[in-house]
Amino acid sequence: LKKVDHLPTQKDELADLSRSFNHMIELLQQNAEQQQQFVSDASHELKTPLTVIESYTNMLKRWGKDDQAMIDEAVEAILSESQRMKGLTEQMLLLANGETPTHEKQLIRLNRLVSETAERMSVASGRTIYVKDSNGPLYVTGSEPLLKQLLFILLDNGIKYSDKSLTLELRSSGSDNCSIAVIDQGIGIKAADQEDIFKRFYRVDKARSRDTGGSGLGLAIAQKIIAEHNGSLSLSSTEGVGSSFIVTLPTAKKEETDETN
Ligand code: ADP
Repeated sequence: LKKVDHLPTQKDELADLSRSFNHMIELLQQNAEQQQQFVSDASHELKTPLTVIESYTNMLKRWGKDDQAMIDEAVEAILSESQRMKGLTEQMLLLANGETPTHEKQLIRLNRLVSETAERMSVASGRTIYVKDSNGPLYVTGSEPLLKQLLFILLDNGIKYSDKSLTLELRSSGSDNCSIAVIDQGIGIKAADQEDIFKRFYRVDKARSRDTGGSGLGLAIAQKIIAEHNGSLSLSSTEGVGSSFIVTLPTAKKEETDETN
């Protein structure tokens, strides 16, 4: 009798085990496929600038030694393509590493970080960036360089895909969260692309994005940074009208902010 009692339980356990084992295999397979896709996309992205560098170097070798105009053109192209490759490899490293390099977390006054980044990007791009901040001081716990990079990516996109002024709006949402909205009046993103743009190397318009120096990695990096800060990213966009990327982050607890004040 005892044996009969135990049998069904053992069977259930076996079935459970087999289910979780199958699930694990599926996850591993998915992971392997994603990695393969990443390597293949990355190689493709690196191959393009390398081909340009190779062509210009060949051109110099064959005909360019005494032609100053050709030398200038080639050097310019080689330099800009190498810089593009360097940027790409840095971005890929950031995505490939489990941990981002500047990971140390500290208490950050978001109001300052937002206004400083807006000022810098505005000077660098020549574009007006309005900062709307009608809240009191807002604090988050995080890595300052990473959060700056996050704002840089979103503002840089706003600048690349629009030709008007941008707005950075800081909002407090309840006592637990605060958000930063990066608002542009640019080309917008059609509904069908709104999910895909967060995937690595995905670009709506490859030619335009490449012309503006895009890699298709910016938003994937932005999401990684946000995840490391336990935040979330949402998008609302209308084609031909503009886009708002909204980063929501947990507000630092009161006791933490008291320590520094
Ligand atoms: P990229 O380096 O190409 O800008 P991202 O990952 O930052 O890569 O963005 C992926 C794609 O999403 C872009 O190529 C572009 O098509 C679209 N995109 C991102 N931000 C915006 C924006 N503010 N307005 C319109 N399209 C955008």
